[in-house]
Amino acid sequence: MTTSHHRFLIAGAGPMGLGAAFSLKRLGVEDFLVLEKDQTAGGLASSFLDPQGFVWDIGVHVHYSEIPSYNDIITSVVAGDFWARHLRQSWIWFRERRIPFPFQNHIHQLPFPLNMTCFVSLLRAAIKRKETSPRHFKEWVLSEYGAEVARHFFIPYNLKLWVTPLEEMATEWVGKRVAPVDLVQIMKGFFQKPADSGWGGNRHFLYPQKGGNGQFCNAVAHSIGAGHLRFGEAITNVDLRKKVVTTPTGDYGFDHLISSIPLDELCRQTDGLSEAAQRASRQLRFTSVDVIGIGLKGQPPSWLSEPGWFYFPGAEAPFYRLIVQSNLSPACVPRPGETWSLLLEMARRPGDSREDGDDLRPSLQFLIQKGFVRDEASVVSVWKRRAPHGYPVPHVDRDGALRRIMPELEANHIFSRGRFGTWKYEIGNQDHAFMQGVEISERLVSGKPETVYAEKSLMSESGKTR
Ligand SMILES: Cc1cc2nc3c(=O)[nH]c(=O)nc-3n(C[C@H](O)[C@H](O)[C@H](O)COP(=O)(O)OP(=O)(O)OC[C@H]3O[C@@H](n4cnc5c(N)ncnc54)[C@H](O)[C@@H]3O)c2cc1C
Repeated sequence: MTTSHHRFLIAGAGPMGLGAAFSLKRLGVEDFLVLEKDQTAGGLASSFLDPQGFVWDIGVHVHYSEIPSYNDIITSVVAGDFWARHLRQSWIWFRERRIPFPFQNHIHQLPFPLNMTCFVSLLRAAIKRKETSPRHFKEWVLSEYGAEVARHFFIPYNLKLWVTPLEEMATEWVGKRVAPVDLVQIMKGFFQKPADSGWGGNRHFLYPQKGGNGQFCNAVAHSIGAGHLRFGEAITNVDLRKKVVTTPTGDYGFDHLISSIPLDELCRQTDGLSEAAQRASRQLRFTSVDVIGIGLKGQPPSWLSEPGWFYFPGAEAPFYRLIVQSNLSPACVPRPGETWSLLLEMARRPGDSREDGDDLRPSLQFLIQKGFVRDEASVVSVWKRRAPHGYPVPHVDRDGALRRIMPELEANHIFSRGRFGTWKYEIGNQDHAFMQGVEISERLVSGKPETVYAEKSLMSESGKTR
């Protein structure tokens, strides 16, 4: 059995753990160790090569960030030709047609009279918005977009994505995550000028030229050095009092534990945590995501040739999002020009008994019927994966639960960060996770305050500025 002690132990080699390790190394700290349960780095941001030679990510994964220091890091760790830069082209599949994203800016493309009813409902919402103070996400959607746009896109899409009643979701997270209403853009569309489809920080994004999204994590892991990374080491227990974590191969003592283990699991594994914190951790809600990759021979239809993704609000498609992965990088397929690839995402409630991949047949039927895929004979590879923790749900009780758990962990030198470490979807992308790792290391070593984890995208604040 191993027994060792480290100034910093890092749980998980996903973007958060790698960011923490990268930062410690940059600060000149040598006494740190990353314990990762899988055999490779990357976590949810990993990529996989299937036996047929197709590269798959765990759902749509692209790099974009509004954090300047992250943008500096991701270009300095790798060689100049590592990244390909893309302009996002995203669409909503609505009643047999493609509507550019964001939906509300393109309602002029809806059939008459639906375009008019949607427009009137957006206007009414804009006039009444100042008088409303939404209590939950459904009320927020209605007050922001009006009943018609909500009914046709936002409500069905969000129900599909979150598999959670929207009345049970909070509003604090929406700030930068949901496209706002811009009446000028909407009017522009009606006057036949091209309406702006460029909303969002991910209008331009980066994607590795080779190896899929996970190639960036592999590059960071390489820069940290194998001596600081231990793979196949699943933490099964944390002893608060002794400050020791246990894996199947041994015990590791720590001064500080920086963890990206999903917070509900971390609390379950932690001996010595109060009953109140344990109870709060059982309130945290999440979705699982099933991903199906379909490798195809031939070429995509011409209207599917842009890098970007499609949203599917309708019940007839089992998936909520689709991307042509081979448009992100031709190196994601074995024979560029002769093969191409589609990646589908399906949301599940945890404990849903469907097998990952159960949706393959109905998905394929849908894709063939709507002209995305020529026929079944063109399928040359199928890849399936479930992310048991896919999306941390920003539900109404979340922040109360986090206020119970996080201070108690920190008082015991456990710093839970990252997508499921903080449980904050609003700071749950790979840039946020990576920078939370960087910043918690800086705080612990030199006292510099964190900004990403401390940042709050409060809906009331963004509501005031709009
Ligand atoms: C479908 C989908 C699409 C996404 N698209 C994007 C996108 O386009 N752009 C973007 O920026 N972000 C995207 N994200 C978010 C991105 O995946 C996360 O931000 C990022 O992976 C979070 O990093 P993390 O280190 O916090 O967590 P994770 O990636 O979950 O890493 C946690 C690591 O901890 C390990 N671990 C867990 N438990 C233990 C244990 N007990 N012992 C040891 N190790 C353990 C895991 O194996 C894992 O390697 C997407 C996420 C999903 C699910």
